[in-house]
Amino acid sequence: MLSRHSTLLSTKPFQQEMLARQAWPRAGPANVFMIATCVILMLNSVHGAFCTPNSGTCWPDRPTLNTWISTLSGATSVWLWDKTPDKFLSASVTMNALKTNFPGIIVAPVSEKDLRSALAFALTYKIRVVTKCSGHDYNGRSNGRGVMMIRMEKLNFVEYNPDDETVMFMSGATHEDVYSALADANRVFVGAPSKSVCPAGCLAGGCHGLFSRQYGLGIESILEIRLMLYNGTIITATRNSYVDLFHAYLGAGQNSFGVAVSFRARTYPAPQQILRLEVSLHLHNPQLSGATYPNIFSDYIFNVRWFNSMPNELSGMLLVENDVVYIRFFYTGGDYVGAFNALQPLLNSPYRRSVDPIVNYTSILDVVRHLQPDSSELFSRSFLANAFVPPQQAMLNDLSLIIGETQPPMLLWFMFGGAVRSGSVGSVPAGMRSAMYEALFSDKWFDPSEDELRMEYVSTTYLPTLYNFGNSSCNNEYTTWGNLYNVLGDWKTRFFGDYSSLLRTKKKYDPCNYFTVKLGVASDLPSATC
Ligand SMILES: Cc1cc2nc3c(=O)[nH]c(=O)nc-3n(C[C@H](O)[C@H](O)[C@H](O)COP(=O)(O)OP(=O)(O)OC[C@H]3O[C@@H](n4cnc5c(N)ncnc54)[C@H](O)[C@@H]3O)c2cc1C
Repeated sequence: MLSRHSTLLSTKPFQQEMLARQAWPRAGPANVFMIATCVILMLNSVHGAFCTPNSGTCWPDRPTLNTWISTLSGATSVWLWDKTPDKFLSASVTMNALKTNFPGIIVAPVSEKDLRSALAFALTYKIRVVTKCSGHDYNGRSNGRGVMMIRMEKLNFVEYNPDDETVMFMSGATHEDVYSALADANRVFVGAPSKSVCPAGCLAGGCHGLFSRQYGLGIESILEIRLMLYNGTIITATRNSYVDLFHAYLGAGQNSFGVAVSFRARTYPAPQQILRLEVSLHLHNPQLSGATYPNIFSDYIFNVRWFNSMPNELSGMLLVENDVVYIRFFYTGGDYVGAFNALQPLLNSPYRRSVDPIVNYTSILDVVRHLQPDSSELFSRSFLANAFVPPQQAMLNDLSLIIGETQPPMLLWFMFGGAVRSGSVGSVPAGMRSAMYEALFSDKWFDPSEDELRMEYVSTTYLPTLYNFGNSSCNNEYTTWGNLYNVLGDWKTRFFGDYSSLLRTKKKYDPCNYFTVKLGVASDLPSATC
């Protein structure tokens, strides 16, 4: 599993120690929970039939299940908790180990025929279905207790069409798969820089990446989505047909309307090269000794005038570690002198600590392959809260002050503004469109007995300010903490655009609520109802 958040961290001793200390959760509570659930299920089962207390999770007896499995192609994988427990456990785990779950069965179809067969089986026995690609959803929305988990990894074909310069990718493809298929054609797709994240789930939340300020969110490039509905019907949603479904998926599609089978997207000419510039800066101005404010945020990063003077081809990420700010800029345009000049005021300011030599990448594929370590469990037992930071100077000054005073571990993405604001497709929250950045504040702790104390700390320092950014500024609450300490009562308006119209679309295409996940459209309604 890859971590965008670990990108800048990997060489820092502090983070290495943190990573090392995470050995415990790796094999810890998630597996213990699963094994315990497994035992409970075994005790309750009659000829393999079982129910969990959740709706849509009553499984028929084992002979019935086996009869259906025998109709599937041999290349389709089916994992059962008692037949292949190891594979079952590893196939169940999602990125957020503390929000992982224990599905009733896991199916990885190799064809649309087998996918349809799985949905028909679920429909016959009124079983809730949850689709999973990479499992990166931090709210655990690619899993569910007792559900039929459909893993899309075998449906991962990607094809570039030079005639209309579009790319078709199946929903099991990762970003790396899509960038690889386009590399030889010298084209790019607007997706995430995290190679193992799948566009299918990323687009369900809007999807931003290094090209977003130039071309908009990932959803802006989507031309077509083929979805299989609960009854096996395939629908091709475009800007002109099934328009409600098209817009609903792009921003609110997390397992809410059906299984997306494939997408078709516009591509753009690849930049000749992608430049990376890494700089290290003081959080506080050394010329104002002891002052926490103004600081580099109020003077530059969160200064709306400075942000607006940056070229749209400039993106990147920023990390605050104690009183040092590390920025990794990427430049995907061709005006190298202009970009360099735009950065001069910051680079020559008193905040400068060091500037590394520029690094060249040949393509976005080259960037994503070298950007991140192959595997990381950085998020286990960490608290991460994200917000889309608006270009409102008074609010930004408040946040700069808090950062200056409390120096929270923080990561920030420079991927908004520019074409993101003029977007017209999808149902992402308004705050995402108007944002300057996406900011993630984090805290890590490993001893569960510290939970309440540390939650009290984050809840009285930066969290209220983040939440004050408006009730549509946050599309995801990246926490590992269940909803024990962070109940978001307004998640419908906070995570989505027009929730009531999304609910109408949901009821039209999935009237019995077969596809539902916590904090997804209609997740507060009973599932698998007819
Ligand atoms: C380390 C990390 C890096 C990230 N980097 C970025 C980034 O750079 N840019 C960005 O915009 N976001 C980023 N994200 C957020 C990421 O886009 C979301 O977590 C997204 O949900 C991941 O999608 P997935 O399909 O890979 O994951 P999954 O967890 O498998 O799926 C996410 C959601 O989509 C649903 N889903 C998946 N496939 C289908 C399908 N075929 N049909 C219907 N529903 C489906 C799942 O049920 C689930 O609800 C990152 C997240 C992490 C943890």
